[in-house]
Amino acid sequence: MNRTLLILPYCSMKPNHVCAQVNAALQISSDEVHALWIGRTSDAPPLSLPNAISKLYTYHLDQETLPTAQQATQIINSIPEIKNTHIVMQSSTQSKELLPRMGALNDIMPITDVIAINQHVFSRPIFAGNIIEKVTAPSPFYLSIRSGQFKGQCTDQPIESQPLPQIDNLKQSTAMIKSVQIEEQDLSSAPLVMSGGRGLGSEENFKKLANLARSYGAALGASRVAVDLGYISNDHQVGQTGKIISPDVYIAFGISGAVQHLAGMKDSGKIVVINKDPSAPLFEQCDLGYTGDLFDVIARLESK
Ligand code: FAD
Repeated sequence: MNRTLLILPYCSMKPNHVCAQVNAALQISSDEVHALWIGRTSDAPPLSLPNAISKLYTYHLDQETLPTAQQATQIINSIPEIKNTHIVMQSSTQSKELLPRMGALNDIMPITDVIAINQHVFSRPIFAGNIIEKVTAPSPFYLSIRSGQFKGQCTDQPIESQPLPQIDNLKQSTAMIKSVQIEEQDLSSAPLVMSGGRGLGSEENFKKLANLARSYGAALGASRVAVDLGYISNDHQVGQTGKIISPDVYIAFGISGAVQHLAGMKDSGKIVVINKDPSAPLFEQCDLGYTGDLFDVIARLESK
């Protein structure tokens, strides 16, 4: 039996992410696709999921914080048939923590940041996306996938939860100091991203871009320099050492286009570049470019 378990994102679960996980599972010829949802006390499990998912395991934590990787590992390993099951997660901070832990415990090599699947050969970018390596491994597979590369149509249907038995002494190695509710578009899944770099010049100016992004329903991205200069927090960083995203439209304000930044956004559907320097490397990657002052563009877009 070729069975796949999708670990659903703990928070901000977007239908297109789950659909991408399903599409990846189907590409490894899964006969059965199951899903696991782990929630906090106040969370409710999903009532409907893509119809390819035949079983939904749920685990309700007795806490108001998200599960630690240790807890999630215990919960996943409590699923009876887990030993011979593939796991598919969306590439995220959670997958970076969880898959190596699961892999070490079950003696399976995780394959991360998968962008394409052909039979049981997995393509993944390395060296900031300059090389695509093809990897295979003994089954079962533990995969993290880049959701944007597994887009497709899914039809949702109602699904009943199958609660997993509560685990005694669920490990808690990390204490949550502060939990912050972020009322912003999720950078990993937003169709439109407005991203700023050093060209913004200050934290105050970056707020103008943030306001613009909010008013257009766009997520806010940033170059590493903008983060290092303190214009914006690092959860907005796009690139090799930040988030890897592929929105439908990526608009770069005052970003030069270093390879490390490209590694995070070059798979975007359309790339729009606003830069006063016509020789900025990002112009070579763009579908639409404007050579000029980014503040003029922000002012014009604000007035629309
Ligand atoms: P700059 O390169 O300084 O570009 C600023 C641009 O703004 C210029 O092109 C300028 O012409 C333009 N500009 C200035 N004023 C205006 C204006 N008024 N109107 C219009 N345009 C204007 N970088 C990332 O982004 N993400 C990463 O994940 C990342 N990881 C890295 C990992 C490593 C190991 C290393 C070594 C580097 C990494 N970097 C990363 C840094 C990367 O090399 C670049 O330094 C960085 O991306 C540059 O940021 P920037 O484009 O904002 O700044």
